[in-house]
Amino acid sequence: MAKTQSDLDRALNGDTRALARLLSAVEDESPRVREVIKDLLPRTGHARIIGLTGAPGVGKSTLTAALVGAFRAAGPRVAVLAVDPTSPFTGGALLGDRIRMQEHATDEAVFIRSMASRGHLGGLAAATPQAIRVLDAAGFELIIIETVGVGQAEVAIASLADSVVVLLAPGMGDAVQAAKAGILEVADLFIVNKADKPDAQQVVRDLRGMLALGTTEPGGWKPPIITTTATTGEGLPEVVTRLDAHWDWLAESGELKRRRHARAREEITALAFAALRNRVTRGGVDELAARVADGTLDPFQAAEDILDG
Ligand code: GDP
Repeated sequence: MAKTQSDLDRALNGDTRALARLLSAVEDESPRVREVIKDLLPRTGHARIIGLTGAPGVGKSTLTAALVGAFRAAGPRVAVLAVDPTSPFTGGALLGDRIRMQEHATDEAVFIRSMASRGHLGGLAAATPQAIRVLDAAGFELIIIETVGVGQAEVAIASLADSVVVLLAPGMGDAVQAAKAGILEVADLFIVNKADKPDAQQVVRDLRGMLALGTTEPGGWKPPIITTTATTGEGLPEVVTRLDAHWDWLAESGELKRRRHARAREEITALAFAALRNRVTRGGVDELAARVADGTLDPFQAAEDILDG
């Protein structure tokens, strides 16, 4: 406890090693994290969170690096959290040392960290909001959460963001695939990357066709489609402009408040369900099962007995 606490003090004072240790504790779901979160909570709520998702190979890392540069030029401290919900491999080395991020390695106002699932399902979905809180409290004004794919877990994690960016590219992660993953609904901004490739415009057309089916309420947000070439930085200024516009819209429309409320709701529900599941599996369910199986106890009563503790 003491160690995690002093790491908290150090991390809040800009010590990135302490910050990294704290995030490891979060990733490991260390029981000490609960106290830390409670202590840093008053310092949270200031960061702007951008989620970036898309199939492997569409150019997420390249674009993230370019985006960090573009945002840094405007001043804020930026943290990147690369999240891999499907990989059981340990974090840290997986994406964190990525060569494309090297240009920011000496910039103290940029913090890059990867988190991978430690083998149990749902663990990372629970850990990511805590990691965001830690980075937020540590004074990062912009937090980019990058996920590695377009599955359900990635969609869930991307939904933790204030602005969700979905990245597509010709030949991979096309519009149909994104639609299947249920990601069209959560996107605030579409980027068709690799605009230097001939098929990019076709991806834009497909996407437009699919989005036309949906409707936007008056005063609502219509997700723009932006084309970029992440390798040259082409289109990046427009991405920043549109993200800023979305941020303004979030604040003005009250949607930011609504989203953060919905997120907190999801989080509480998930924690409560996890606790309940724990209680059920620990609570002598086998003993009750034996009685239900031999017909001496009805299953409704058995369930009630468990919930009553
Ligand atoms: P990720 O798996 O989504 O993170 O994709 P990466 O950022 O690792 O990029 C995958 C490959 O696509 C790399 O070889 C990049 O250099 C390349 N790439 C990224 N953006 C572009 C682009 O705009 N145009 C082209 N032609 N290649 C790109």
